[in-house]
Amino acid sequence: MAAIRVLPDLLIDQIAAGEVVDRPAAALKELLENSLDAQPSQITVDLQNGGIALIRVTDDGHGIARDDLPFAFARHATSKIHSLDDLERVATLGFRGEALASIAAVAHVALASRTPQDKHAWSINASGGALTEVKPAALAAGTRIDVRDLYFNTPARRKFVRSEATEFAHSENAFRRVALARPDIGFTLTHNGRAQGLLKPQSLAARIGAVLGDEFAAAAIAVDESAGLRLTGLAGLPAYSRSARDAQFFFVNGRFVRDKLVSHAIRQAYRDVLHHERHPAFALFLEIDPARVDVNVHPAKIEVRFRDAHALHQFIFHALNKALSRTAAGASPAMADAAAFTDGTLPAAPFMPQPDTTVRRPYGHQAQMPLHAGAQPAFYETLFRPGVPVAPPDAVPQTADDTHEMPPLGFALAQLSGIYILAQNNRGLVVVDMHAAHERIVYERIKTALDQHTLATQSLLIPVSFAADRLDVAAAAENQPVLHEIGFDIAALSPTTLAVRAVPAVLADADAAQLARDVLRDVREYGAGRVLTERRNELLSTMACHAAVRANRKLGIAEMNALLREMEITERSGQCNHGRPTWFEVSVADLDKMFMRGR
Ligand code: ADP
Ligand code: MG
Repeated sequence: MAAIRVLPDLLIDQIAAGEVVDRPAAALKELLENSLDAQPSQITVDLQNGGIALIRVTDDGHGIARDDLPFAFARHATSKIHSLDDLERVATLGFRGEALASIAAVAHVALASRTPQDKHAWSINASGGALTEVKPAALAAGTRIDVRDLYFNTPARRKFVRSEATEFAHSENAFRRVALARPDIGFTLTHNGRAQGLLKPQSLAARIGAVLGDEFAAAAIAVDESAGLRLTGLAGLPAYSRSARDAQFFFVNGRFVRDKLVSHAIRQAYRDVLHHERHPAFALFLEIDPARVDVNVHPAKIEVRFRDAHALHQFIFHALNKALSRTAAGASPAMADAAAFTDGTLPAAPFMPQPDTTVRRPYGHQAQMPLHAGAQPAFYETLFRPGVPVAPPDAVPQTADDTHEMPPLGFALAQLSGIYILAQNNRGLVVVDMHAAHERIVYERIKTALDQHTLATQSLLIPVSFAADRLDVAAAAENQPVLHEIGFDIAALSPTTLAVRAVPAVLADADAAQLARDVLRDVREYGAGRVLTERRNELLSTMACHAAVRANRKLGIAEMNALLREMEITERSGQCNHGRPTWFEVSVADLDKMFMRGR
């Protein structure tokens, strides 16, 4: 048994660094927060090599006094709180006094600063925890900090650093979060000497547009609600929903946070207007008495704890619900659908009035995935496979006499409500959920093809390009082998544009851009290794969902029969990918009972 020893200070800081600055973007976030706490009017960020080689943050805030410079790097040394009381109502972003100590333990840091009282600036260097003397330096008022060669002395940590493009994408996200929170401050960002962002001090609305794109700002509604606390910002309309959570920004007193309670309240507010697989886009700002929220519960302070959780949940839900219902009055869901097709694609089938109001039509979902006008014949073809018996298109349903001829799921009679296929077999009536059944068939086909390494790829005549965020572009570049394995060819056209050049042949009719986005989301969230192993079924579901026939597609009798025949030869087709049944049977005997006919 080894003896118990106190760890050396440097090792303690290196351990802390693993939590607080797990990648360059996290170090950038800490430096940006330090700058914000110094009340600047301008912050400049220069990155080299995604932040791995250099992160430089320059601000014109109040600076650090000469004698305090060495303490800036001391563990648990802070100018921001002095007592437990202060902690309970902390209004600054920092308060633990450990970021600079952690960063200096795993990088070469140069700090120069000048307070308004100083005649010139002073500088100090810290490297692997060792400090130099304080020396005079040249700098206008404020602070400049250079962090070079992150993790130079911690190779295990360096192994987790990804490509330059991925690290830059994360760093840019950290920058965007801070820029969103403080529209009153001007920001610039350069990467490898090239300008990436220039933000003047502006209104919140203008800042949101500048950071998240005018497209988002135009498709969003303003939220401004107060009741002791205040919620402001923009909530994206359902039609602007996303397949990933990457356009969700929630700030508590200027701090970007991810909170389950808040997410839940927002999701509830969107529940009736958004399909469950889509994610709303929003930039929302909560102002709340600092004493009512505990920000000291997470290493990177990205999670918080609210004192009156229930009341807060209600407040957020109602504020958003109110804002969202204002939009519903102006445009019916059906009109929102129609409006979404102005991109040139047409729905394959006319949108029929919804006869059953208990069936929720997720219009945000459909709006993002319009069927192409030409999809119908191709869909028809995918259902027919040589050797599978299919009734003639205008087949009169067989009678119960031809026992040996009758397939288990029988022959189609009609389509009900744009959703169900009604068929007749030897025993009676068969009702099939056509989307669920088709999704299952496609799912099993892709799965078999993947297992047998026979997944056919279909090159697109015209590659489909789409705007993507940098993380998606980086994920596409990093995961080429996996993407090829699952039948995709996705190439970067620019740091923010991707092009789909090939898709799995079974998915040739799906919306290629939307399909690629969803697949990249899975690859990004779970990593290349896991998407093909433990997350494989989820990936297959994502893919299958895009190929499957959507509700309200009008199917001919022949198409319906083809689907029934496919179901009969597809393993596990009795359930959809989500475990719900795809069909059930009502026998004539059951019907007789219902009508109290004694036969
Ligand atoms: P914390 O932010 O939790 O106090 P840090 O380790 O991040 O801890 O910073 C230590 C101290 O260094 C801060 O309390 C602050 O006094 C000073 N400091 C760091 N960066 C700046 C800056 N850009 N401007 C002014 N002071 C700074
Ligand atoms: Mg700090």
